[in-house]
Amino acid sequence: MTEKERIELAELLFPNIDKTREYYEEMYPERNLPEGAMVTRYGPSPTGSVHLGNLFSAFCDMVYARQSNGVFFLRIEDTDQKRAVEGGIENITGVLKGFDITPTEGYGFDGSYGPYKQSERTEIYQTYVKDLIIKGLAYPCFMTEEEIAQIREEQEINKVQIGIYGMYAVDRDLSLEEIKEKLANNEEYVIRLKSPGDPNKQIEIVDLIKGKMKLPERNLDDILLKKDGTPTYHFAHVIDDHLMHTTHVIRGDEWVSSLPLHIQLFELLGFTPPKYAHIAPITIKDSETGTIRKLSKRKDPWAGAKFYEESGIPIEALHLYLATITNTNFEEWYLNNQDKTIKDFEFSFDKQAIGGTSFDEAKLNNLCKTYFSRKSGEEVYNETLVYTEKFDKEYNKLLKENKEDMIQFLSIEKDGPRPRKDIAKYSDVKEEFSYAIDSMFEDEFYSKYDGDKTYDIELIKEYVEGLDLDTTNEEWFNATKEFASSHGYAASPKDYKKNPDDYKGHVGDICEAIRVMITGRTKSPDLFSIMKILGKDRINNRIELYRKYSNK
Ligand code: GLU
Repeated sequence: MTEKERIELAELLFPNIDKTREYYEEMYPERNLPEGAMVTRYGPSPTGSVHLGNLFSAFCDMVYARQSNGVFFLRIEDTDQKRAVEGGIENITGVLKGFDITPTEGYGFDGSYGPYKQSERTEIYQTYVKDLIIKGLAYPCFMTEEEIAQIREEQEINKVQIGIYGMYAVDRDLSLEEIKEKLANNEEYVIRLKSPGDPNKQIEIVDLIKGKMKLPERNLDDILLKKDGTPTYHFAHVIDDHLMHTTHVIRGDEWVSSLPLHIQLFELLGFTPPKYAHIAPITIKDSETGTIRKLSKRKDPWAGAKFYEESGIPIEALHLYLATITNTNFEEWYLNNQDKTIKDFEFSFDKQAIGGTSFDEAKLNNLCKTYFSRKSGEEVYNETLVYTEKFDKEYNKLLKENKEDMIQFLSIEKDGPRPRKDIAKYSDVKEEFSYAIDSMFEDEFYSKYDGDKTYDIELIKEYVEGLDLDTTNEEWFNATKEFASSHGYAASPKDYKKNPDDYKGHVGDICEAIRVMITGRTKSPDLFSIMKILGKDRINNRIELYRKYSNK
């Protein structure tokens, strides 16, 4: 076909497209950003609920853009309308906001490089396809599904590469007359790329995480526009990343195999490709088979973003976890820097795991505990209030009614170099501090009391009578030791161990008895602090309740 014929063909196929490439290039100029600023994008398809892996990739987009004073934008990639689910887009924007992985630009946010939803950009894609037709780099292909299936069968029998290329690309060189005839017959068509690739040649790509990769050149005549005139994902995202000036594509490594096509498209369109960072999936050891597999929404509760919200894992703690899987040196840095937050850490692609990162529940738990340990009692109270407002209304009411007490309990053992590490999620507060609220403690502990150890109630009553709560921790403990010695108990476990027959027990046994009676557990935060908050009357009430229920 001559150039004149190609222009005629392009007009025939796209009579309504009156804009040019130049029009869009001008409309979306270079971004005015500081040197080194990264423009990243998160491009989810609205095909279902959000997976931890999606959050992970969006988190990477966010931190790299943020630390370089760049832009992190959200683009909805809904080219496959058949797979789109209702409410899918709102779910994505809701989850991003909810998890504080908020784009600086994009669908549902601000920005002047939109529209940020691919289904609203059809005209733009068609403009570029029209241009490719004029340049002889794309063509209409009228092959039917049956014809394509037949070719595939033949290729399978002959054990050759599957797909439309070379001699199998039968519509590649149709004349303008032949095309006109088919159009007149209303034959359906797609637009295919006229691929110049040679599979015997290799392209070399430097991935920021995986390093140098050699992949065969793409030689298939891939579809650019489907029968309904909408683009395929591959084509659409290349146009978008160009016009939106993406500098770094960070995405799952399942896209590595499509990379030769993407690079080819960038080159044929005359665009500079962005830099790539393909991240490995989050894996897990299957509890049944023992094999390593991808984290699955069907099998693993941790895989779905919703799990974190519902179980009360703080957003910031989840960010800490995502940071540990983003950079291998993050965790140590964080644990050694008490006063620092994620924003102070410099992420780098070369500290990113190349293979799969395995999901580690214990690590997540530990980071959550560290997070809580660095929060004041009041902060933990306020955040728990927000969580319970949504997920535990009954407890939320109790928390509000017992605000002052709760904050005091939550503040125990917060100062000092080794703050308390008992809470891993908001939902733990109810269980860990079940003794903090009188009514709840009666329902939760005494009414179900089944401890097999019996304690000397009268001895403890006597102890409480002489108890001075208006003193220091040290003096209190000395007084308790004295009380122990004067009532036949050793003042220290060591003394007791030396001559067990001389004593009824040791000071620790007395503390254990009080502890069980007033907290319902043998381990608790600092006992003296708890007693101080409760005060003598409530301590005595609790001893009486203990008497009542332990005699059941
Ligand atoms: N829309 C693609 C997905 O859902 C994104 C691929 C990319 O980031 O280039 O995974």
